[in-house]
Amino acid sequence: MQIRLFTPEPLVPGGEVPLSAEQVHYLRNVLRVAEGRGLFLFNGREGEFAGRIVQLDKKNGRAAVEKLLRPQPPAEDVRLYFAPLKRDCTDLVVEKATELGATLICPVMTEFTAASRVNTDRLRAIAVEAAEQCRRLDIPEVAEPVSLKDMLSARNEESPRMLHLDESGEGRPAAEVLSEAEGGAAFLVGPEGGFSETERALIARAPRTAAVSLGPRILRAETAALAVLALRACLK
Ligand code: SAH
Repeated sequence: MQIRLFTPEPLVPGGEVPLSAEQVHYLRNVLRVAEGRGLFLFNGREGEFAGRIVQLDKKNGRAAVEKLLRPQPPAEDVRLYFAPLKRDCTDLVVEKATELGATLICPVMTEFTAASRVNTDRLRAIAVEAAEQCRRLDIPEVAEPVSLKDMLSARNEESPRMLHLDESGEGRPAAEVLSEAEGGAAFLVGPEGGFSETERALIARAPRTAAVSLGPRILRAETAALAVLALRACLK
């Protein structure tokens, strides 16, 4: 089994990085590996390195950094704005959006949003774990929740195109719009109650926004978020 760990530390061949208390616990008590075990290290900036555990005590651990295996790929711009859902569904969206290549995951508060608070620290930990598992070399940014109004008013003509996932059937097919989009993309998914009429009007007026459809069925919000990210990942 391959072990991949994210570290915020600089990675330099010949150097060492400390392992966090959670990583020490995971390596010792969950994976039950020993000093000398090889692993992969990445920090979201300098690529992926071969490494080796050189210390694994009850509390402390260190890994030696060996050679560079994969350079850091150029950063992408794939933004997911979604109304937070019930805890398990939000966790699922963050995990799968990380696997599917989102680079910004931003909870958006709307009129009919059910969840009132979001634990961004927990969501960040989920994103790190998903990135480690799926071999991507960066960690998506999990932003603090913003209101729909503020998010829309921060948009301008330079913003990446935003696809409003619209269940009304009035939008163009998502695949068609995505195949035209060059550069980054943003996706906006509504809550289970949908967007209000006022919100729909605000979204329609925001710069560089297109309403898109994922077909005739009304999908759960988490299904819509993951379906459009999967579509983009496949079209690339
Ligand atoms: N309350 C609405 C459904 C909302 S579904 C109703 O009952 O009519 C939750 C969110 O998922 C929507 O806001 C939309 O962003 C997205 N969604 C669901 N089905 C969709 C589809 N077929 N096409 C595009 N987006 C969809």
